[in-house]
Amino acid sequence: SDTTTLPSTDSLRERALASLRRVGVTVPEGADLTARTPITGETLLGLKATTRDEAGEAVAAAAAAFRTWRTTPPPARGALVRCLGELLRRHQDDLADLITVEAGKIRSEALGEVQEMIDICDFAVGLSRQLYGRTIASERVGHRLAETWHPLGVVGVISAFNFPAAVWSWNTTVALVCGDTVVWKPSELTPLISLACHGLVERAAEEVGAPAGVHRLVLGDRTVGEALVDDSRVALVSATGSTRMGREVGPRVAARFGRALLELGGNNASVVTPSADLDLATHAVVFAAAGTAGQRCTTLRRLIAHRNVADELIGRLTAAYRRLPIGDPFHEGTLVGPLISTGAYDILRQALGRAEADGGELLVGGGRVLADAAPHAAYAEPALVRMPEQTPIVREETFAPILYVLTYDTLDEAIALHNDVPQGLSSSIFTRDQREAERFLAADGSDCGIANVNIGTSGAEIGGAFGGEKATGGGRESGSDAWRAYMRRATNTINYGDTLTLAQNVRFLG
Ligand code: NAD
Repeated sequence: SDTTTLPSTDSLRERALASLRRVGVTVPEGADLTARTPITGETLLGLKATTRDEAGEAVAAAAAAFRTWRTTPPPARGALVRCLGELLRRHQDDLADLITVEAGKIRSEALGEVQEMIDICDFAVGLSRQLYGRTIASERVGHRLAETWHPLGVVGVISAFNFPAAVWSWNTTVALVCGDTVVWKPSELTPLISLACHGLVERAAEEVGAPAGVHRLVLGDRTVGEALVDDSRVALVSATGSTRMGREVGPRVAARFGRALLELGGNNASVVTPSADLDLATHAVVFAAAGTAGQRCTTLRRLIAHRNVADELIGRLTAAYRRLPIGDPFHEGTLVGPLISTGAYDILRQALGRAEADGGELLVGGGRVLADAAPHAAYAEPALVRMPEQTPIVREETFAPILYVLTYDTLDEAIALHNDVPQGLSSSIFTRDQREAERFLAADGSDCGIANVNIGTSGAEIGGAFGGEKATGGGRESGSDAWRAYMRRATNTINYGDTLTLAQNVRFLG
């Protein structure tokens, strides 16, 4: 077979159901939510969605479980996550299958997404013994000043289709060891992988004797998400998705003084300087721009190349783009799978139209392939467009594989172009000049939450904090000290002397 022979919807349905059976999940069949596959664009099954009332009940159950979970010693909470990690290892293939069926990721990326979930479990288990506070020098004799981190409450996790499982695991494993309980509202486009993940947490909870309410799943569209957003029992809403969604969610959560952690869209760029290793840069750029069919929040969308290397780089990229195998994501040789929907392909075409109207030159790609074999699916050729300047369409996130190429003369100009977009997620520079690399990473360099040297913009490790600035929302998840967002801080002043001393030498009675 070749990459362009697509599996049938029936075989994909069988594959998904077999994975769910092995994971131990029964699908709540119904008519109000549709599981579909972007591989053929056709329906797999109908599911029952969660009503607003049921979402409220899920929050109530999570709030009840929180009352015992918050005083469970953190290493015991870690035991739940360790058990989940073991189940994820055991079911890595099953979960990867579901990710490929529902999100269309190629096999290696789907396995990678599950690996990322396993990795964050390991991280969170270690973290369960490292929820450190500080001891602070007190200005008063016989006093000690300290801070303690306490569990926050119910965390509402709202996630996007493109990382249907990993984003949930970053939030959930860290929240659980922090003593929080979780209600998850996954993307309406990926209900099956969500059912599998939830099923594994339930199994883990049963195995270690954790309360069942530590994790609840609610299925449905944004109205179910809104139920979490507006519920004052949800202490933190961690929402991943488009900037449009964040603009709605952020103020609504703030209006009730809840906490929001927002992980929104990106418009990521790489700067390629004259000293760059062009072999390495080409390889990195193709993965970052065309990988995952351009549907990562960290996908490379803008390439800012020095005028002296732009033509050479474009030549190499055009050649590489022409060779990209597009098609069945289950096929070993495929590098570019389907877009999530035909609607996403329409958005790609509209963006290319606007870019060309702005004077952009389409160098390669932009066509649709396999339209006869799968009329309801959308397989797009990744596009490369040379732009005369950074026009409004370049400053928008189009969630499809379009890479705009811009040129620059001085590094200051490149950095100014780089930062002149609303989003601030990921960035990188390709250079062998240490001064340029350091300048890019400095306070007046890239304004993004992620800034890399000699690698692309996508494919972060879980050990670092993940997230971005400006219209990307400002949130940080995953590694480093991102756990603090899932806890509340108490400052403690302890007087172990016999007299009352007031701070700042204030005198009052005595
Ligand atoms: P989306 O915004 O359409 O949906 C994301 C989630 O939010 C879904 O579960 C959806 O049901 C829910 N939602 C939408 N509107 C809502 C509202 N008003 N109230 C409550 N919930 C609401 O995004 P998508 O198309 O699924 O995903 C693609 C987007 O996600 C891209 O913009 C991408 O950059 C972004 N993303 C960001 C990150 C990150 O970490 N920064 C990671 C993955 C994806």
